[in-house]
Amino acid sequence: MMTVQFTCKHCGSSVHVYPEVSAHKIQCDVCQTEQEVKFDHNHEEGILKDCPSCERKDFYSQKDFNRKLGVILFVSAAIISTVLLYFGINPLWYLSTFVFLYALDFFLFRRLQVIAICYKCQTIFRNVKNIEEIPGFNHEMNDRIIYSDHNFHGKPLDH
Ligand SMILES: [Zn+2]
Ligand SMILES: [Zn+2]
Repeated sequence: MMTVQFTCKHCGSSVHVYPEVSAHKIQCDVCQTEQEVKFDHNHEEGILKDCPSCERKDFYSQKDFNRKLGVILFVSAAIISTVLLYFGINPLWYLSTFVFLYALDFFLFRRLQVIAICYKCQTIFRNVKNIEEIPGFNHEMNDRIIYSDHNFHGKPLDH
């Protein structure tokens, strides 16, 4: 089932919900502020066409990459290699820890699912069935949507 992560307009906290046509409002757990949402049957089916928060149709997709994990892996590689070096262990081992952790990072990164994000309001969508139709991030589109409030109506720039 698709999950939607809204950002509370009042305090910036994340509000996670499952789409439901009957739900017209969501409430922030932190500050109790209510926000209007518009879910349709597509959302219930996991199909993303319109943003339930700002009603725009412009989204981009990206890997749900956990940056913290990347940092943890890098730090552990540094610690392991320092320890190995201290004990005078073969430099090949020293090198292989980096290779191993890089491979692990790559493996985890590859396995991560792709999420869709609304350019206009930053709402995040997970388990989107039509994720293949949503292109990657486009700087020009982002700038025009954020700074000049341009609406692409779901027709992404292609270049
Ligand atoms: Zn809030
Ligand atoms: Zn939106």
